[in-house]
Parts: sequence; C-alpha cells; structure tokens
Amino acid sequence: MGRIVYVNGEYLPEEEAKVSIFDRGFLMADAVYEVTSVLDGKLIDFPGHLKRLARSLGELEMARPLDDAAIEAMHRELVARNALVDGMVYMQVTRGAADRDFTYPEGATPTVVAFTQAKPMEDTVGARDGIKVITMPDIRWGRRDIKTVQLLAPSMCKMAAKKAGKDDAWLVEDGFVTEGTSNNAWIVTKDGRIVTRDLSTRILHGITRAAVIAYAEAAQMKVEERAFTVEEARDAAEAFMTAASAFVTPVVEIDGVALGDGRPGPVARRLRELYLSESRKRAI
Ligand code: PLP
Repeated sequence: MGRIVYVNGEYLPEEEAKVSIFDRGFLMADAVYEVTSVLDGKLIDFPGHLKRLARSLGELEMARPLDDAAIEAMHRELVARNALVDGMVYMQVTRGAADRDFTYPEGATPTVVAFTQAKPMEDTVGARDGIKVITMPDIRWGRRDIKTVQLLAPSMCKMAAKKAGKDDAWLVEDGFVTEGTSNNAWIVTKDGRIVTRDLSTRILHGITRAAVIAYAEAAQMKVEERAFTVEEARDAAEAFMTAASAFVTPVVEIDGVALGDGRPGPVARRLRELYLSESRKRAI
C-alpha cells in the first residue's frame, strides 16, 4: 500500500499528489525544507525544526503558509495515517507557481508538501561500524544556513564519495572543514576536546548539532565551536557527524586514514546514547 502524503491542505494517496510544472521549487529550487526524525511514533527535536523553517522562510522573504500548531498537527496526522513508527517526516515549502522569472512573484501561494519515510533509525550499520569519509572542495553556494532544496552540489559530492567506495564527503573551504554533505562534522582531539564548526552562513545550523552541544555541556563535557582543518581531522582521536536522520554517527576514517583503532570511539558512542535518551524524553 502506498503512502498518504500531504499537499496544500489535503491528505492524498501518493499517486494522486500533484504540483504544477510552474512551481518555483521545481523550476528554480525556490523552496525550503525540514526533515524531522520519528522514533516510536514521536517527533524528535520538533521545536528546533519549526524555528529553523521559520528562519529559512524569513531569509528568503517567503510567506509562512501555516502556523506552528498547524505544521505540528500535519506532522502528527501523517505519522498516524501512515502508522509510522521509526523514520522521518519530510516537509517542503516552495514560493508557489508563477510564470518563470528571476524576480520573486507578487502574491504567489506557497506550495506545501510533506511525506513520511519509514526506516530503521537506531540500529544502523553506520551507528554500529561508523562511516568512512573523503574530503572534497565545498562547491556549494554561500548561504548554507538557509535550508533550501538546491541539493545538487552535495549530491555530486556524495556520489563521488560512493564511487570512491566510501560513505560520505566532508566539504572543505580554505583548508577548513565546513560540514558533511548532509550533516554537521565533529572531531574529538587527542587531548579529549570535542570540536565542531561555529555557526555562520557557511554551514547549516543543525538542529541535532545544537541538541548535542546542549546535552554534552549538561553532562560536563566541553564543546569548542570553531573551524578545524583537514589535517586536524585526520589526526583526531575520533570523529562523528550529526543529522536528524543519523543522530550521532561515528566517522572512523578520513581520506583513507583510520582514526584511532578504526572503530567507533567512546565519545561518539556516549554522545549517541546521550542524544537518544535525552531527545526521547523530549519527543512529542
Ligand atoms: N548540514 C547539512 C548540509 C545538512 O543537509 C544537514 C541535514 O540535512 C545537517 C547539516 C544536519 O542538520 P540537522 O541536524 O538539523 O538534520
């Protein structure tokens, strides 16, 4: 049986869901999105995703089509209608359909679509064995803090990593790691400092990143928010990445160099457990 998806106020079988070919999300990637993970049928870190969606829309001067309560109700309805236990809800807002033009159209009605994706979230190969990454130049645009659907550059980089027999690419600008193709990058130095890049327009302000910093600090673990070089990453004791779809996932190899003993490190494992237990308590 196919999924029930959401399109502009309606819940429809996925085969019946339609969006105009003039939609600016389709023609110009003029659209923003959020991905919220679902554990045991509950939404994880949802207030953070709502806040970031509002910020992305604001940065692009895009109308807010639904208020927070309506967005939450829609997420719950999709989880219920699809009997989703573990997986995620994807939501996208576009500026709407209009004649193709580089200027923003006046008065277009935003398009809102959302759908669920069921998948194992906790017991994954990445969590168990860690992932291997290569580094590549960050060829993306300059406003990575806005969560837009223009994902071709990270998609190309991820494909290059796959072709090299690895799992993902860490993107590099001016010698410093920005982030992974769809996740925030972290290292643990040999003297035990947990480091992740500070917030700016150069990276997406990860909701999982923010939660991990808060939970780590509450557990008396210190986090340094600063840029780190590729060399520092290759020389680290441990590394890991964070994303709504991957929680905290260990990185065990960078550019063919194994970190530590090549197995997920203790800090990454502890932070994953901490994140899961704390975010479960706050799940809605
Ligand atoms: N960085 C990029 C480029 C991403 O695409 C994502 C998630 O999609 C993240 C970081 C992680 O953000 P979050 O923890 O909010 O999922």
